Amino acid sequence: MAPVIEIRNLCKYYRVGKEVIKAVDGVDLLVPNGCIFGLIGPNGAGKSTLIHLLMGIILPNSGSGEVLGYDIVKESIEIRKRVGFMPEGIGFYTDLTAEQNLRAVADLIGLEDKDKRVEECLRTVGLWNFKKLKYKEMSTGMKQRLGLAQALLKDPQLLILDEPTAGIDPQGAREFRDLVKELYKEGKTIFISTHLLYEIGPILTHIAIMNKGRITVQGGIDDIKEKLLSTQGYTYEIEIREVKQEIKEKLSSIDTVKEVIMEPSKILVRCSEPSSSELMSALIGEEIYSFRLLRPSLEDVFRAYTR
Ligand code: ADP
Repeated sequence: MAPVIEIRNLCKYYRVGKEVIKAVDGVDLLVPNGCIFGLIGPNGAGKSTLIHLLMGIILPNSGSGEVLGYDIVKESIEIRKRVGFMPEGIGFYTDLTAEQNLRAVADLIGLEDKDKRVEECLRTVGLWNFKKLKYKEMSTGMKQRLGLAQALLKDPQLLILDEPTAGIDPQGAREFRDLVKELYKEGKTIFISTHLLYEIGPILTHIAIMNKGRITVQGGIDDIKEKLLSTQGYTYEIEIREVKQEIKEKLSSIDTVKEVIMEPSKILVRCSEPSSSELMSALIGEEIYSFRLLRPSLEDVFRAYTR
């Protein structure tokens, strides 16, 4: 199936006095259909600018791209009609209730079947029982869920959520994650930007890491971790009954072994390539409790690609 987002060499520069800020600096991005895609990067990386370019809210200096097959410059109206967008720091009328606010958005976008859709979306985000609560009386988590509800009104195939968990407490972030996971299971593609990896990280299937206007790595999470393993090396953790010098020497003599670190009850072996069978052969006769390849975490990936 065609990707939902595809952009090529996209650039957006701002001139501030004599300085040129390269907010988005030659970005290529491919977001496949049916994934939870995280655009991850520190504050100021260019994430919001990139999202505004995707939504056709601002125009690029150069480069091109399509969202749901529509050109981000010439057909941005079609994009805005079809994509469920939740901007960063979305606000609603403070004196209106959750239901009244959603109805106002539904009116604005000329939704048919307004009553039914408003109810469905409030139920989806778990706010139906709070429909009479005024916006100003809601918790930050509830406000963000109302933001998601307005993005869902059109029943879009693609959702773009800009920093949706900013300011939410851990419980609220967990509820938000569960909601996004449910929407993904229903077949929607969800594109989320965040600088808080730990809040959204666990549910992502794909990521792009953005830093200083550029994307340093992108793709499926498992593929990226595999790539990191092959560039940074493979570290094995071996828990063993007796950690002795003789074992260190045996392991160090293997061609692919770069370093052997001895700890009280385990050995860490850093190798240039996968070496489990060679390591196991060298350990024949030893009492081994566990043997595993240490896989990089998402934090390791983030650290490696935001340097
Ligand atoms: P992020 O969303 O990752 O925090 P932004 O896209 O908001 O990053 O900002 C990227 C860079 O572009 C920052 O240095 C920011 O100050 C700058 N920037 C964003 N919008 C404007 C603008 N309208 N005028 C000038 N500079 C801007």
